[in-house]
Amino acid sequence: MPSFERLYKDGHEEVIFFSDPSCNLKAIVAIHNTVLGPALGGTRMWPYNSEEEAINDVLRLSKGMTYKAAVSGLNLGGGKAVIIGDPEKDKSEALFRSYGRFLESLNGRYITAEDVNIGVDDIEHVFTETNNVAGVAEIHGGSGNPSPWTARGVFRGIEAACMKVYGDRSPKGKVVALQGAGSVGRYLGEYLYNEGAEVYVCDINEKNLELFKEKVPNAKVVGIDEIYDVKMDIYAPCALGATINDETIERLNCKIVAGAANNQLAENRHGKILKEKGILYAPDYLINAGGLMNVSIEFEGWSEDKAIRMVDTIYDTTMKIFEISEEQDIPVYQATDILAESRIESIKNIQGKFLGHVGHRFPGRKKR
Ligand code: NAD
Repeated sequence: MPSFERLYKDGHEEVIFFSDPSCNLKAIVAIHNTVLGPALGGTRMWPYNSEEEAINDVLRLSKGMTYKAAVSGLNLGGGKAVIIGDPEKDKSEALFRSYGRFLESLNGRYITAEDVNIGVDDIEHVFTETNNVAGVAEIHGGSGNPSPWTARGVFRGIEAACMKVYGDRSPKGKVVALQGAGSVGRYLGEYLYNEGAEVYVCDINEKNLELFKEKVPNAKVVGIDEIYDVKMDIYAPCALGATINDETIERLNCKIVAGAANNQLAENRHGKILKEKGILYAPDYLINAGGLMNVSIEFEGWSEDKAIRMVDTIYDTTMKIFEISEEQDIPVYQATDILAESRIESIKNIQGKFLGHVGHRFPGRKKR
């Protein structure tokens, strides 16, 4: 169990353990903050080596969701869940239905979705038992694949950074080194190609590189370590976290860092170093929030127009964060946290905690 001292320090409201020996369910839900609305965040399934490791993961991830929703202007709080188990061996209909029943008992304070090792099929079982789940299949009113929306948001972040650095929002003619040709990278590559940017790409997966080339026929493929040495304008990390670290930061010869990967800075001090080097860093947890934004409108009845309107706000919010960073002479990551925290603080003072059931607020979606 996490200590109360730790929960006080990080600001978590609630941590719940679900246990059902009949189907070997061991799940932990962490609700970090519900000032802005019900806590939304995916469920991750992982064979953790210890319960302590699972607790650390769920506490860290749920807090991150609070900041992401807050800075993105969503009326959602932050939460996350982990299921301790081997995704290859331990999945069953019973496990996910049991999990869904437990979630229902939370009365909408936490809404789940897919995360690492949890797919739409698993979520469908959860949805049999509770409406408090997002990312359900399109046939049930769900919002489909989030990756193209995440890519759209990242592209808006790149445009904001280009406007700040070059005085022109278009990355036309700019050299972009894109790390990771996966679900998001592929769509981001397409946006960049359509706008006339020059794309260098790397990936460990040949198949994904081939799919990437279908969208970006003139992309130049480089090695996975070579990517840091490309003579580039923009570095777009779309694979792993912590790629801005002591080893890479000296090699990055660019003006902008903007990509989809979570936690790009190995440590906060790397954000300070980027600023000192005159490299503009677009805040990762804001510009990669397009997928979350897209899923958030599932409850009120998803439409493409709504998704576009919402995801495109990332441009203005990114510009605002650059302004705060400049005015206060602080790194971008710090300016992003300030904006998220100030929104939560101001709304806390007007309406208190979210108390109602999600179904009353979002009547648009039908129960399965
Ligand atoms: P993905 O698994 O589809 O793609 C990741 C790609 O990176 C894969 O093609 C993989 O082969 C490649 N890769 C792995 N290690 C690499 C390395 N060392 N060098 C180069 N390439 C490597 O994942 P995704 O959904 O495209 O997400 C990409 C990143 O964006 C992840 O960090 C993810 O957490 C983050 N993100 C994704 C979404 C989303 O909507 N999918 C939303 C927010 C954040």
